[in-house]
Amino acid sequence: MPSENVVASGLIERIGNSNAVISYKTSEQNISKELEISDHEKGLSEMNRFLMHSEIGVIKDKSEIQVVGHRVVHGGKDFSDTVEITDEIKSKIKSLSVLAPLHNPNNLKGIEVAEKVFPNAMQVGVFDTAFFHEMPERAFRYAIPNSFYKKYDIRAYGFHGTSHKYVSEKAQQFLASRELPGNKMITIHLGNGCSMTAIKDGKAIDHSLGFGPANGLIMGTRSGDIDQSVIFYLINQLGYSPDEVNNIIQKESGMLGLTGHHDLRDIQQKAAEGNKACQLALDMNTYRIKKYIGSYVAALNGLDAIVFTAGIGENSSVIRKMACSNLQYLGIEIDDAMNDQRIENISDISLKSSKTKVLVIPTNEELEIAKQSYNLISKSDI
Ligand code: ADP
Repeated sequence: MPSENVVASGLIERIGNSNAVISYKTSEQNISKELEISDHEKGLSEMNRFLMHSEIGVIKDKSEIQVVGHRVVHGGKDFSDTVEITDEIKSKIKSLSVLAPLHNPNNLKGIEVAEKVFPNAMQVGVFDTAFFHEMPERAFRYAIPNSFYKKYDIRAYGFHGTSHKYVSEKAQQFLASRELPGNKMITIHLGNGCSMTAIKDGKAIDHSLGFGPANGLIMGTRSGDIDQSVIFYLINQLGYSPDEVNNIIQKESGMLGLTGHHDLRDIQQKAAEGNKACQLALDMNTYRIKKYIGSYVAALNGLDAIVFTAGIGENSSVIRKMACSNLQYLGIEIDDAMNDQRIENISDISLKSSKTKVLVIPTNEELEIAKQSYNLISKSDI
């Protein structure tokens, strides 16, 4: 940094298993190795061995690492910005675990391990919720008695903020370089989790995920919007426990519940072969995206650009085409040939005549975290 030159990247999968996989990539090497990684500390230490390896490493000593940036999923109402992690911050992240039980405890573990492995580095927290911190109250409040908001902080927080922020800034630069307007934008993050954000003048003004990560769009295994009466019916009439219902909504619903598959590639292939359930799931999924586009155009009072990102948004021309079809009256017109091309960098897939530009931008949450961490240490001048 600040040249944003990636010197090494890596990934550890299946931590806790005897067949965990560690991958390590530099401009010259691309290594993937199966080994036993019992916990996060062992994982980070293993990665460190690659980083400092005499032949394939990129640093000579741990002390070369000045800052470690961490993605923290839930920052609640307290964190509107990137922060240096102190003991006080750690206890706040811990206390927010009730709102993100699947994420915050693991984020904290990552921080504690990094403190041990890189004791001289500054640890920095980048919160996924921070990008939504300035959303207007009318967008983040639920219409339930005020006391639930005042006493228990029940409101929409939003997720995937690091990704929405990264791609919206990239889009703005891209549009500005072509002297096109970019004040009113909708970013669509479609991965295993899916969300949409309405962005005005660079600030999020509305977002589809809420108090938890199952609201809004239809996702790989999460239902997205559902009438709450269904939940009470499952509990009171059909006898499911609250935990079972939670599991159904979060892990057995969405594209998996509709088709038996959660990987979109399988669903697209089966739909193309004539599978009706898969075709319906694609229809439902993209119809939901369209409804959100419509509501966000109303919230923004117009639209300059739509941005697709993440695994599905970047790779599925089928979903992009279906989600943008028949929206000519909003000035949205896709160029089919551009849409079908393999996209590796920023791509404008709209027709020249399209008033609203439709962009595909690969997300890069790691780089966004690096940028924000770098900005913080530059400010604090270490
Ligand atoms: P996560 O939310 O876990 O980060 P990703 O952003 O990696 O997820 O997205 C995973 C999704 O992307 C999966 O549903 C996968 O099917 C989909 N995907 C990946 N590549 C393709 C592709 N070429 N065509 C369609 N879908 C794809």
